[in-house]
Amino acid sequence: MPRESKASRRERAVEFCRRMHERYPGVQSALDYHDPFTLTICVMLSAQTTDAGVNRVTPELFRRWPTPEAMAQADPAEVGEVIHSIGFWRAKAAHCVEASRMIMSDFGGEVPHTMEELCRLPGVGRKTANIVLNKAFGICEGIAVDTHVFRIATRLGLTRASTPAAAEKDLLDLIPSDLWTYVNEEWIHFGRDTCTAQRPKCDACPCVDICPSAFKANGKPNARKSGSKAKSGTQAKAAGKAAARKTEGR
Ligand code: SF4
Repeated sequence: MPRESKASRRERAVEFCRRMHERYPGVQSALDYHDPFTLTICVMLSAQTTDAGVNRVTPELFRRWPTPEAMAQADPAEVGEVIHSIGFWRAKAAHCVEASRMIMSDFGGEVPHTMEELCRLPGVGRKTANIVLNKAFGICEGIAVDTHVFRIATRLGLTRASTPAAAEKDLLDLIPSDLWTYVNEEWIHFGRDTCTAQRPKCDACPCVDICPSAFKANGKPNARKSGSKAKSGTQAKAAGKAAARKTEGR
């Protein structure tokens, strides 16, 4: 089977983005935050944890320590008591306090708004920084690659990377920069309701024709209903090209 050209991969990526934007117009984060500081803390806490789990602990967390100034003075053990129902709470409690102290000492009490400075904060990596920059400051320097984005990009054949950081580079190379801002939130929704980690719902997917993993992901049977047939990877690429051509100029 011939290797897909980069141009074809880019066309499928753009078409996939277009369909996600159509399917999830105006989707917002499920995290409850009020400002750049509470957003940064929420995103830090959300690693390996559901947004609902984060939202259960943050009302009390932000009631007691609503600002970087207040949280910088908190005892990490007390913060840990408040967030102990979420995963990795000990490390996250320490990061909340340490990051707040750095915001106070190095950034004048304001969450910084450059990638480099945000990534200096304890507990903040490129994924969190991308989300904070995008949602709090309207700055889009990259794409936040979480578990959903990573899985979907891999299934779509948009990356073969083994790490989110490397996958982000591949996506930035394929997807035009004016679309980056939508990817994380829209793909998360798609990863939760359709392209799920286990048994993706290819039967209900609007992107079967441009997905080389359709009905093959995870090796699960997930058989298509009678009367239709899954496209091969090559067919998906060809269909993706045709679909992408249709969208040119929109
Ligand atoms: S066809 Fe299946 S594997 Fe491909 S994007 Fe859709 S749900 Fe995911």
